[in-house]
Amino acid sequence: ASRMPPTLQRLAMAPVITSLSSRKVAVIGAGAAGLVAARELRREGHKVVVFERDDKVGGTWIYSPNVESDQLGLDPSRTIVHSSLYDSLRTNLPRESMGFRDYPFVVKDGKERDPRRFPGHPEVLLYLDDFARDFELTELVRFGTEVFHVGLVEEGKWPKWVVKSRRRIRNDQESIPIDLDEVFDGVVVCNGHYTEPRVAEIPGIDAWPGKQMHSHNYRIPELFQDKVVALIGSSASAVDISRDIARVAKEVHIASRSVTDGTMGKQPGYNNMWLHSMIESAHEDGTVIFQDGSSVLVDVILHCTGYTYHFPFLKTNDIVTVDDNRVGPLYKHVFPPFFAPWISFIGLTWKVIPFPMFELQSKWVAGVLSGRIALQSQDEMLEDVKAFYSTLDADGLPKRYTHNMSDYQFEYNDWLAAQCGCPPSEEWRKKMYYATGKNRVARPETYRDEWEDQHLVLQAQEDFIQYSP
Ligand code: FAD
Repeated sequence: ASRMPPTLQRLAMAPVITSLSSRKVAVIGAGAAGLVAARELRREGHKVVVFERDDKVGGTWIYSPNVESDQLGLDPSRTIVHSSLYDSLRTNLPRESMGFRDYPFVVKDGKERDPRRFPGHPEVLLYLDDFARDFELTELVRFGTEVFHVGLVEEGKWPKWVVKSRRRIRNDQESIPIDLDEVFDGVVVCNGHYTEPRVAEIPGIDAWPGKQMHSHNYRIPELFQDKVVALIGSSASAVDISRDIARVAKEVHIASRSVTDGTMGKQPGYNNMWLHSMIESAHEDGTVIFQDGSSVLVDVILHCTGYTYHFPFLKTNDIVTVDDNRVGPLYKHVFPPFFAPWISFIGLTWKVIPFPMFELQSKWVAGVLSGRIALQSQDEMLEDVKAFYSTLDADGLPKRYTHNMSDYQFEYNDWLAAQCGCPPSEEWRKKMYYATGKNRVARPETYRDEWEDQHLVLQAQEDFIQYSP
């Protein structure tokens, strides 16, 4: 702490909250994380302002047919489209497990509703709309307002945060920016992490003459009609998109880092889809060579290679950084020890069931900010972070896996729940998560319509009765 500028040292020394307090808190983003954060903060008695650059709530779940001017998504001056959804997307989690803990994602009547267990993306947006409406959250949101600076200011007894935001008012000819500076006690960052693409490095790519794009800008398969496509990646999106494209493309060649022997080569059920190891190089004559030795003349390389965390507005003197996609140092993926509890992050984890985890993280943040829940000391938090990073190192995991939680999400949720005095994760939800994972691997084509965990659906529905209006 001694290397910190004086303002930060004062923040680090700030007195521990001893009585329940209502804070003025800014939430950045009105996606699933920002909405549930706003609800929990208000429930705890805080004054909440949600900043949202879009005109609607829902974040990722607001589908846009538009794509960015730079389809690789690397040009910082491009006009940003937030959502990475493609037209055909259906959820990869069953609705029972996906919903917030106390606001189940149940089937609703209505012409536009999608009753399927793994519904299409519009149904998730409708669910989030319902959530915002039922908890009267929309009134907390400043729509069309982008946060471009969050930094420390001295004000009163100890430092606070200035949030600078820009709202654009459109008249007939132009769009006029209106900037506002406002001071808050706390800031909760909920800006999502599926918008800034990460692309694969391919030797020789600069001379390769074909077209490249990132899955962030993939919407419909028609553009790939009769094309030869090399698709890099093996995530849930990569699996879906490769199958979407194979319906119209001439050939789809999937390059995957995690390919296992025996699965390579032509894919069962397809006469135009092959699985390869990674791309070794790309060449001026249009060919792409894979590490398995095969060489293919390719029209398009589609990077389904994930995203990078991006907080262009956050000015923390490099005390919170993004290093090889590790946001850190962060205590339990939420609080940077130096700024706790005045800055927090909701929703950084991946390979999880997002909504219920956002809900628990938000309860924790809200309770710590009011002083109802005690937080470990700064030194204890830093020790915990150090120990966590050491276990990742010992397991040989690169920094970019820091927020990957597949193996311990329920343990983590239960830890959060205990902090907040809430019941642990429901047994059916855990079992359903693993059953779905197994089914997805066994039946990638049909897992959304055929399953064997109907008994868990019944258990979930029984559990949901307590939340029905
Ligand atoms: P987002 O939904 O991205 O919301 C962030 C919000 O912040 C946006 O509204 C954005 O406009 C706003 N914002 C960003 N920067 C600023 C700023 N500077 N100022 C003001 N506002 C700002 N999850 C599931 O549970 N099930 C699924 O099946 C599933 N499928 C997915 C498929 C795809 C292709 C992707 C990309 C994700 C999927 N997810 C799924 C995960 C999904 O990201 C989460 O469910 C969840 O929507 C994330 O919510 P969020 O609030 O963290 O972020």
